[in-house]
Amino acid sequence: MTNTDLPMGDDSQTTEEILALTSTNLYIDGIERPASNGATFEVENPATGTVIATIASATAEDAAAALDAACTAQQAWAETPARQRANILLRTFNLIHEHADELATLMTLEMGKPLSESYTEVTYGAEFFRWFAEQAAHLDGHYTDSPEGKLRIIVSHRPIGPAYLVTPWNFPLAMATRKLAPALAAGCTAVLKPSEATPLTSLRLGQLLCEAGLPDGVVNIIPSLNAPAVSDTIMQDPRTRKISFTGSTQVGRHLLRAAADNVLRTSMELGGNAPFIVLEDADLDAAVQGAVDAKMRNMGEACTAANRFLVHESLAAEFSQRLAARFKELKCANGLDPESTCGPLISKDARERVAALVDDAVESGAKVLCGGKVVDGPGYFYEPTVLIDVPADARVYREEIFGPVAPITTFRTVEEALDMANSTEYGLASYLYTQNMALALDFNDRLEAGMMGLNVGVISNAAAPFGGLKQSGMGREGGAEGIHDYMDTRYIGMPRGTSF
Ligand code: NAD
Repeated sequence: MTNTDLPMGDDSQTTEEILALTSTNLYIDGIERPASNGATFEVENPATGTVIATIASATAEDAAAALDAACTAQQAWAETPARQRANILLRTFNLIHEHADELATLMTLEMGKPLSESYTEVTYGAEFFRWFAEQAAHLDGHYTDSPEGKLRIIVSHRPIGPAYLVTPWNFPLAMATRKLAPALAAGCTAVLKPSEATPLTSLRLGQLLCEAGLPDGVVNIIPSLNAPAVSDTIMQDPRTRKISFTGSTQVGRHLLRAAADNVLRTSMELGGNAPFIVLEDADLDAAVQGAVDAKMRNMGEACTAANRFLVHESLAAEFSQRLAARFKELKCANGLDPESTCGPLISKDARERVAALVDDAVESGAKVLCGGKVVDGPGYFYEPTVLIDVPADARVYREEIFGPVAPITTFRTVEEALDMANSTEYGLASYLYTQNMALALDFNDRLEAGMMGLNVGVISNAAAPFGGLKQSGMGREGGAEGIHDYMDTRYIGMPRGTSF
């Protein structure tokens, strides 16, 4: 059976119909068109290894055209009343929900996650449009007098200008909406370069933005197999004012260097190495459930995924056994299969990397409680895996795993747990399980992470400021903070006390 044979329900569209609806072209200045040199690339379904679409691959020339369109549209979009911009965002929010079946299916086809998780992402991804529609209409500045009494100070916020948005493959819808919605709400135009592994969802979103009434040129979408050429063209152009990137720390560092030449405003949502800490007084039922959520969402392919399980020595044996029992219940299968609870990894290379991390840990003395093997057959599946007795210097603790592997180690004191948690260059998400709220708040003060899940395993929410510390990046997406990543702060100083 091929992936496209799986029905979605009697009265639903088939996967062929959904793929046929979805643009495979670049979206520039309101027009869907092929690449200037006719170049294309193929998108594969990681559950089957089959090609599901052939996509136009933007060249440097196409990138320049996309930026031209964004620059031409910038002034009119910035001057469009906030309420009007907000209405377009709200229409997009509604359209994403109306087309939930298509978007969820596209995500599962191109990225692999189980369909139920793709539906969750539709809800999460759409929410950025509603949240930032509300923000667009509520932006304010402030007025004050200077302390020595000589100046009146008027502070306002203006859209920063054309923004270049680069997204990864792991959340094909939400990573795009988390950038597009605040950019548009702020009054910025944009060029979006989705990951070459998962361009279909972004291209379908572009069609929905068009249907929602977004003027031509305000959003341009340019998938490309040649990311460096596209990025160089856009980032070296002085009209670009902003780069917002979500992806690996390695590529983030490179783009930060490139951003220096034109002194671009940067938002960097980079890699993570989240500690999941279970203190001695934790509710173990909640901790095990939280561990499944924080590890297995997206097959572990999330920047917020729990990467290191640090469990108090008195609870470690029971926690590990119960986690392994839960992992064994998961079903590795094509995400379109309604019974699938663990999809494939994104590629053969990604699976080989995960397998190498597990092998390295085992060679260093770790024991496998469950999993630890690739799944035979088509697709890039890897068994949900629990490792215990993992030495602190194993690669699996130091590197972002990006797969369904939970390495567990123990600690004796809270101080020791904190030191272990902070011993990484990353600082994105963290998780803490304890019933002592005062201790939790003190712990958070010293924990080097931008976000903490306190007795909860999933923390992403459009209303919360998402982002990291240290080498996990800078800037915040979502929350009241998110729109300011796309705005300049300006101030007018006027003399006071001279009129009478
Ligand atoms: P990646 O860094 O390989 O690619 C991300 C994007 O950058 C893609 O669109 C890719 O085409 C582009 N890119 C790659 N090389 C480039 C270059 N030289 N110049 C310009 N663009 C380039 O990351 P990925 O494999 O797509 O995603 C996984 C990574 O993303 C993980 O490290 C994960 O932690 C991170 N991530 C972070 C967050 C967050 O919010 N902090 C969210 C999701 C994913």
